[in-house]
Amino acid sequence: MIKYALICRDCEAEFEAWFGSSDAYDKQAERSLINCPHCDGVQVGKAIMAPAVSGTKKSAAPDPQKVFGKLAAAARQHVSENFDYVGDGFATEARAMHYGETEHKPIWGETTSEERAELKDEGVPAEPLPPAFVPAKPPGDKLN
Ligand SMILES: [Zn+2]
Repeated sequence: MIKYALICRDCEAEFEAWFGSSDAYDKQAERSLINCPHCDGVQVGKAIMAPAVSGTKKSAAPDPQKVFGKLAAAARQHVSENFDYVGDGFATEARAMHYGETEHKPIWGETTSEERAELKDEGVPAEPLPPAFVPAKPPGDKLN
């Protein structure tokens, strides 16, 4: 016997059902013999399950922080290679472009949080880059 988590595509109800084997499930599913207990619909399929993380065993899924760090590094690299670095003149440059005083060009640089708020208020398009990936400090580091 095998138990499947199923989902009804009509009413989106999730339920579980026992089958003699995975073959038995496949055959019944093919012939639309599996009914939703909620709406009696036959558009029933296996629910997509997230991989279970059990106990202390590390899951094979990548660490979201690492994935984000890689993306952030790639984004920063792309910007630093293709955009003009204007340092802390970013707010001035971005504003000049926005008001048509200078040619539009991709730039990057630094702003203070006040400058960022001002740019936002004025509707000057500027997005903060994702922060560089900083690895988590090993436990115990805080004590120093
Ligand atoms: Zn249903």
